[in-house]
Amino acid sequence: MYDDAILQSVVVACPDCDLLNQVPELVPGDSAFCIRCNATLARNPKDGLERGLALTCTAAILFVVANVFPFLSFGMDGLVTHTTLVTGIVGLYNQGMVFVAAVVAVTIVIVPTLVLVGLMYLLFPLRSGRCLPGSELVIRWIIRMYAWNMVEVFMIGIVVAAVKLHTMAVLIPGLAAWSFMLLIFVFAWLSISVDVRVLWSRLEAAR
Ligand SMILES: [Zn+2]
Repeated sequence: MYDDAILQSVVVACPDCDLLNQVPELVPGDSAFCIRCNATLARNPKDGLERGLALTCTAAILFVVANVFPFLSFGMDGLVTHTTLVTGIVGLYNQGMVFVAAVVAVTIVIVPTLVLVGLMYLLFPLRSGRCLPGSELVIRWIIRMYAWNMVEVFMIGIVVAAVKLHTMAVLIPGLAAWSFMLLIFVFAWLSISVDVRVLWSRLEAAR
């Protein structure tokens, strides 16, 4: 009988040194390492998909807060302006920076939304051993899109701009900025918690 908690034995090319390794069956809690450079080849997390799902839900809540609440308050000459992520993108567009506005919208809003919705579409049913139509396509698209999720690059840009402007104006980070900061760490944790091989293995068992 096929046990969906066990990762089947496969041959894996090491991501660091390219050596082909025979990875044995992995029971929950096991990891496999390259015999030449000791890089991690595969992991079968003890908690299965639970941690990935919890982190996806946390990221979704933080992402909604980051998009709904004020991101930055900008005070100068007694005038205070509140901006949100969306008004910032619209502001770039209105100033004629259409390409920059489009890049920010794609990397900060659209891609993270699609990745989080895609992960929920996969993880909720897979947790109970089921899968929804088109799940294979969703996994492939999440892998492709994840490289374009650039919340941390955007935050570095905001910090650099804030440091340069702090002598000219008062900048107060809003709830959305703190939420965005936390989101960076949750996304990083999520990327190491959801193993693609585990997803494919669960999907195969659910079909
Ligand atoms: Zn290696």
